[in-house]
Amino acid sequence: MKIALFGPPGAGKGTQSRLISDKFSIPSISMGDLLRAEVRKGTVLGKEAKTFMDGGQLVPDSVVIGMLRDRLQGGDCDGGFILDGFPRAISQASVLDEFVKLDAVINLSVADRFLIPRITERRMCPCGTAYHLIFNPPITPGICDDCGQKLYQRDDDTKETVLKRLEVYSKQTKPVLEFYREKGVLREIDGNKSIACIRRALIEILNSLPR
Ligand code: AMP
Repeated sequence: MKIALFGPPGAGKGTQSRLISDKFSIPSISMGDLLRAEVRKGTVLGKEAKTFMDGGQLVPDSVVIGMLRDRLQGGDCDGGFILDGFPRAISQASVLDEFVKLDAVINLSVADRFLIPRITERRMCPCGTAYHLIFNPPITPGICDDCGQKLYQRDDDTKETVLKRLEVYSKQTKPVLEFYREKGVLREIDGNKSIACIRRALIEILNSLPR
């Protein structure tokens, strides 16, 4: 099962990707997480990537494509994987298509007006769990329910950067939908529904895929 979750920033790709990863025992591969890990390690690549990430821009293909190729070679991807945040440009989709044929690309569509508050009120745990201060707050403010670590706000979840990320999404990323529509693998889910509802819809789609 080789799938990609698609959608604008704040659509819930990360949350759903992790839930589906648990359910189907396949890795969830978040390009954003891979990049943030490089930033934390302070590598040359991480330093280069951070400039783009903080500006709400896409990190160049020359960086992300190589990282994805390496990650997919991990033995844990043999039984399938879920991509979260890749591809984000037609150029990335074309290269990916040369070495992986995706079984489904699932678009979580969310109206623009909901995205900004979804992102600016988001708080993250280092373990990867995401919270929303209003719709999905932790039991103890500022602390992760799952592991007890302190929550933080991502550097690029500020209103200014979010506006840029949404612009980049509509100019560079959204056209990728047509690429997969033409290949007949694009599926749609209403991303305005609850986390549980979206999870159910995703599971239904994944169970309907030929194995
Ligand atoms: P995300 O965690 O998916 O919201 O991604 C955070 C940031 O990482 C994005 O705003 C980009 O700067 C960068 N990024 C993530 N995925 C990609 C990609 N496929 N291509 C280029 N940049 C990416």
